[in-house]
Amino acid sequence: MTNEVLPLLTQAAQRRILIIDGAMGTMIQQYRLEEPDFRGDRFQNHPRDLKGNNDLLSLTRPDVVEAIHRAYLEAGADIIETNTFNSTSISQADYDMSDLAYEINVAAAQIARRAADEFTAKNPDKPRFVAGALGPLSKTLSLSPDVNNPGYRALTFDEAREAYAEQARGLLDGGAHILLVETIFDTLNCKAALFAIDEVFEEKNTRVPIMISGTITDASGRTLSGQTVEAFWISVKHARPFSVGLNCALGAKEMRPHIEALSDIAPCFISAYPNAGLPNEFGEYDQTPHEMCNFVEDFARSGLVNIVGGCCGTTPEHIRHIARHVAEVARTRPATGQPKQAPSPLGVAGTPCFPASNRSLSVRKPTS
Ligand SMILES: [Zn+2]
Ligand SMILES: [Zn+2]
Repeated sequence: MTNEVLPLLTQAAQRRILIIDGAMGTMIQQYRLEEPDFRGDRFQNHPRDLKGNNDLLSLTRPDVVEAIHRAYLEAGADIIETNTFNSTSISQADYDMSDLAYEINVAAAQIARRAADEFTAKNPDKPRFVAGALGPLSKTLSLSPDVNNPGYRALTFDEAREAYAEQARGLLDGGAHILLVETIFDTLNCKAALFAIDEVFEEKNTRVPIMISGTITDASGRTLSGQTVEAFWISVKHARPFSVGLNCALGAKEMRPHIEALSDIAPCFISAYPNAGLPNEFGEYDQTPHEMCNFVEDFARSGLVNIVGGCCGTTPEHIRHIARHVAEVARTRPATGQPKQAPSPLGVAGTPCFPASNRSLSVRKPTS
């Protein structure tokens, strides 16, 4: 089956910088939901506390999830993420809800599609896309949770692969246009997700664009599993993603050098959706929409990015500002949005890494 999303998405990304939405968790907090909201009728007698299981709201308070999607679409998001950051059987085990993983993913994708399709119908010139979000899992493959036993792993590669495959299946069955592997701090987890996605593509005889987004967790610019962004790119490029980028952990200002490094080496589209600054002493994010959007506008002016948005602490207001600022840049500088590289032999840098023939492509930054 050919995938109709890729040409549409590619065309949109070549024309302008695309906007991905902001945080779901931050918005859910504002609803001040209590235990009964999370339980709904269906889980009234569930033996574990469910407050905080935000992904469950796709089953018990779909109205809240849909309202948040709408707020981001209203703010100008081209791509909205499903409420599925923790929707694998592995992460849902914390709530004794592993067996609901598939169902939660289907429901979340359906809710997001309902909202996105309505906005697309209203304005077909600005098609909206649903990215099915695959989060980092509550356990890692590369690191031991036990300091006294560094060789121990809480999970095997196959367990991670199976959980991600189930999630990918649910997201695709629910209608996700894109699969987004995000907030990757352990490259091996990401590899398990990519492996699983490939299997599910084969099984369903379909393919959707893949977005990959890593997370830099330390000051020296490495992921938690110790990689630089360059090493990270080399580890994931076999998946031929539509885009690669970074999200979370850092504010836009702190993320800039790492996005620049990635933008220099990766020939596909580049995404960046940082947090609203670094957390304050209470662990809250308080960078205002306008403060944040100035940093993001600089990403755009410098030609580092094709897709921008927000992670922790960002709201529709942040996304509205980002969209407005970035739209201005693109109008005055049409070349902005292409990674700054020499043109590749296969066309303009900044086209997706999709064709298999791109695999051997290596593009160097021109020495200036
Ligand atoms: Zn975040
Ligand atoms: Zn602004």
